[in-house]
Amino acid sequence: MFCAIVAGRAPASLVYRDPATLAFMDVNPVRPGHVLVIPTAHRAQIWELGEAESAAVYRRLPALASALKAAMAADAVTIFSLNGRAAGQTVFHLHFHLLPVHARDPLLRRRGRRVTFQLVQVRTARAELDALARRIRARLPDGAERAAGAP
Ligand code: AMP
Repeated sequence: MFCAIVAGRAPASLVYRDPATLAFMDVNPVRPGHVLVIPTAHRAQIWELGEAESAAVYRRLPALASALKAAMAADAVTIFSLNGRAAGQTVFHLHFHLLPVHARDPLLRRRGRRVTFQLVQVRTARAELDALARRIRARLPDGAERAAGAP
């Protein structure tokens, strides 16, 4: 499914693209600004990724997380990736979730040793996703923004 986005055959609100990496808005964000980062090559899970492919994707995470944090005026950013059905993965093209987190609305709660994530997805209109993508792109370092092929 994400291969169709890479190929430009399915709609997406693009945040960043280079030959190895694509970042776009999640259509069912658990927080406004929820971004997915994927390798452009089809790899179902992280253990299918070669070292060079892995380095190419990981090297983009700091700037993307930083741009997301600034664009959403967030206090923090949570990054996670579900690998395998038993982990809860539903789209079998490797992706990293980047979630902006505000102190007033935490994602993770601790009660003693009980740690829970509060993840509620909200279907979001394309126009809103496009606007958020634009905001994040504007915070990327020079050059990276142009790489996203901003409309
Ligand atoms: P996971 O459960 O970790 O496999 O997450 C898959 C994520 O992909 C979910 O958060 C979905 O909302 C998101 N998703 C599915 N299809 C699309 C799509 N076409 N464009 C953007 N996000 C998508």
